[in-house]
Amino acid sequence: MRLEIPDTRYPDWSRFLAAVWGWGTRTDTYEPGVAKYHCWRAGEAASGSLVWRQEQRKVRPSSFINCARQTFFMREGHDPQPMPPNIGLTFAVGHFLHELSYGAITSALPDGFKASFEVDVDLPEWWPKNAEWANDRGHVDCIIEVTDKEKAGKYLDVSEKRKALVDFKTMGGYSYREHKKKDYTSVADGFGYLSQLAVYAGTVQPDVILLAGISRDQLTAPLVARQISKDTLETEKKRMMSAFADDLKDPGPELLDRWGEEAHFYCGGGRRSGYCPFRERCHATHPGG
Ligand code: SF4
Repeated sequence: MRLEIPDTRYPDWSRFLAAVWGWGTRTDTYEPGVAKYHCWRAGEAASGSLVWRQEQRKVRPSSFINCARQTFFMREGHDPQPMPPNIGLTFAVGHFLHELSYGAITSALPDGFKASFEVDVDLPEWWPKNAEWANDRGHVDCIIEVTDKEKAGKYLDVSEKRKALVDFKTMGGYSYREHKKKDYTSVADGFGYLSQLAVYAGTVQPDVILLAGISRDQLTAPLVARQISKDTLETEKKRMMSAFADDLKDPGPELLDRWGEEAHFYCGGGRRSGYCPFRERCHATHPGG
């Protein structure tokens, strides 16, 4: 059932998307046929996560670009540490929440808008081409476009912003709470959320870029869609481009150098064990890293 026209328009795309998602996820509005379709797709994706054996080892928009040293190690042919074998449930739940969110948006998105999901895209012109260490395709979670300015304009101001790129992220409780308040113009982007968006923004050319957090721990919590500025993504793009240079030398522990202790949660250090799949190699070859 479509989101109703509000008495007062939503002030921005973030709150509009949160309202669509919130309305669409209700049991009295989720369209039954849409629910069936997306639950089937979710099952396919989730079962794949449970028997997933090995990640394909290439630099891609979602991996090995959030730190120049990761990219360097990949280009040198080093193997990242494998994911822990108990990661399957987390990935499976993530696939479910993504698919059910697509269904909720399909159910509730008003006339005047069109949503596309899991869209295959080329990568931007600055992405490495024909490099055996880099993937040359990608896909974005969701693109929402205005198809009828008059109808869409009853929900929010679409005079300038008519195309939104949306990346959904399922988050544990701590990350979700941080996501609500964190300043994305100055944050240690260990998991590469901003790098990924910078790549896709370069090819989709959206007017609005949203990082939409879904709480994995509290499923009745609202969607939190944070708008990411183009300036922030431009900075990310320049940083990544330097790691794609033909004559790249070992840049040292780049993420750690940039963010210091803030990067310990991802790089390891202090009392944190870290998540970076190259942390052992990095620490071993850079004692300060
Ligand atoms: S441990 Fe940190 S600095 Fe080292 S490669 Fe990984 S992300 Fe980069």
